[in-house]
Amino acid sequence: MTTEPQPDRSDAPDPPACVDCGAPLSGPYCAACGQRVVVEADFSLIRLSRDWLSAAFSLDSRGLTTLRRLIFQPGRLSADYIAGRRQATFGPFQIFVFVTLLFFLLPDNFDILKAPSRWFFNDVEPLVAAKMAALDLSRAELAILYDGRVSTLSKLGLFSIVSALTVTSWALGFGRLPQLGKHLVMAVHAFVMALGLIMLILPLMMLLFLVVEPEMWMGNTLHLSLLGAWITLQQRRVLAIGWPRALLHMVVLIGVLGVSVFSYRYGISWLTLWSL
Ligand SMILES: [Zn+2]
Repeated sequence: MTTEPQPDRSDAPDPPACVDCGAPLSGPYCAACGQRVVVEADFSLIRLSRDWLSAAFSLDSRGLTTLRRLIFQPGRLSADYIAGRRQATFGPFQIFVFVTLLFFLLPDNFDILKAPSRWFFNDVEPLVAAKMAALDLSRAELAILYDGRVSTLSKLGLFSIVSALTVTSWALGFGRLPQLGKHLVMAVHAFVMALGLIMLILPLMMLLFLVVEPEMWMGNTLHLSLLGAWITLQQRRVLAIGWPRALLHMVVLIGVLGVSVFSYRYGISWLTLWSL
């Protein structure tokens, strides 16, 4: 059907077009960009508050669905996202931004990506002494300078660790899933889970603290076991592989995660102190 020009009716409304992208409209939504046609009635206070409320609640239910599937159905979010089922949940990069922001609100002790001065300085006494002399600072002053700078730099570590996980997952699962981008999705979910588990285990450790004095290794063991189980299930579900191969993938991925966190933490801490 073609649109005929209407020369005689100068007061007629323009043929309807989307105000966002200009595509012709055939209904209350644009078929090209999804924009809903806004009418005057949309600005009544009742309509506005109803829109805002429903936006808030759909955000809420979307967030809850995302959280539930991320934690209790390992691999489901990755498989859904790869298959194109994306409406009910948040995408990997939205989750990544949200969880890392939350993570950086935690007290410094729990930031796995950097070594605070009060631990790190003991490991590198000669460099600390040299820096104190060179900058004419006390140990406390140097510590403040170092802690401030290392916090900023540690955030960059997220990307190097996600990259290491992505390339490893790709190398392991290339035969099943040759596209690197699909492994980036899996790596982002696994990394978010690694950070999320720290945030879930912390309150548990604090509760435990009331009864016995928990050791660092208890939290670490719990974290690695849960993360290992999660990664095994994720690999199994997304790549459709058997248990032995999924377990092998998990061992390699956990190894790479551990090595990259450790080397990043020490690398960046050392570089920060050295460059002061
Ligand atoms: Zn449009």
